[in-house]
Amino acid sequence: MSDKIDFEVVPLRAFKDNYIWTLRNDRYAAVVDPGDAQPVLDYLRRERLELCAILATHHHADHVGGVADLLARHAVPVYGPRGEPIPTLSHPLGDGDQVQVPQLGLRFEVLGIPGHTRAHIAYYGANSLFCGDTLFACGCGRLFEGTAPQMVASLAKLAALPDATLVYSGHEYTLANIDFARAVEPDNEELKARAASDAEKRKSERPTLPSTIGREKKTNPFLRCLEPAVIESANKYLGARASDPVQVFAAIRAWKNSF
Ligand SMILES: [Zn+2]
Repeated sequence: MSDKIDFEVVPLRAFKDNYIWTLRNDRYAAVVDPGDAQPVLDYLRRERLELCAILATHHHADHVGGVADLLARHAVPVYGPRGEPIPTLSHPLGDGDQVQVPQLGLRFEVLGIPGHTRAHIAYYGANSLFCGDTLFACGCGRLFEGTAPQMVASLAKLAALPDATLVYSGHEYTLANIDFARAVEPDNEELKARAASDAEKRKSERPTLPSTIGREKKTNPFLRCLEPAVIESANKYLGARASDPVQVFAAIRAWKNSF
C-alpha cells in the first residue's frame, strides 16, 4: 500500500487533547478528523498550503465539527464512514474501499473497525494508520455504539498490520492509559520503559504519537487479552474465571471505565 513517501504528518492540537493529523507536502494538505476548523485554517494560511481532502474516521463532533467551516472556504472531497450521521460527507466509505489523495501521492485502504461507533473506519497507507478513537496508545476507545466482540475483532484487524506501521490516534491519552496498563500488567518491562519515555515526551509537550503496531502489541492491554498476566488481572477484577478473549477484553474495558 506504500507509495513514495514525500509527505509529512503534522499534529494540530484541538480542544483539550484532540489531534487533527495533517498530511502535507510543500503545496497541499489533507486533514484527518478536523473537530475544529480554526487550527487548520491558521496552519494552512501560515504554511501557504491548499487543502485538498478531509478524511473522517467517525461521526463524533470532536472529529467532524470543523468540516462545514472548512468546506465553506475550500471545496474539497470529504471522506468518511457510510452509515454514520455526517451530513457533510461527499464520499461515504466502508471496509475494503480505497481513497486516493493524488495531490499528496497517497492511497489509503479503508478498514471497517466498528466498536467505538457503529461504522468507525481507519485509513491505512504509506506505512501509516489513522484510526481515530478505536486504537489509542496503550488503550482503546469506549464502546458507545458497538459491542465487545466487534471491538475485539476491530483491534485484531489493526494488530495484524505490520509491526512498523505508524499509529496516529485521535487523542493524547497516553500517560493515563499507561497508568491503567501498569495496573493490569505490573510486571511488563516494556511497559515500564514506555512509561518513562512517554512521560519525558509529555514533559516537553511533545506528542507521544505516532506509536507503532509493534509497540502496541507489547504494551497495550486491549491487544493482549490472550496474555496470562492480562487474563489473571481481568479475572481478579471480575471475581470469576474467564479466559475467552472477548470476556477478558470486556472486563478490562469495564475496569478502565471506572479506573
Ligand atoms: Zn469518538
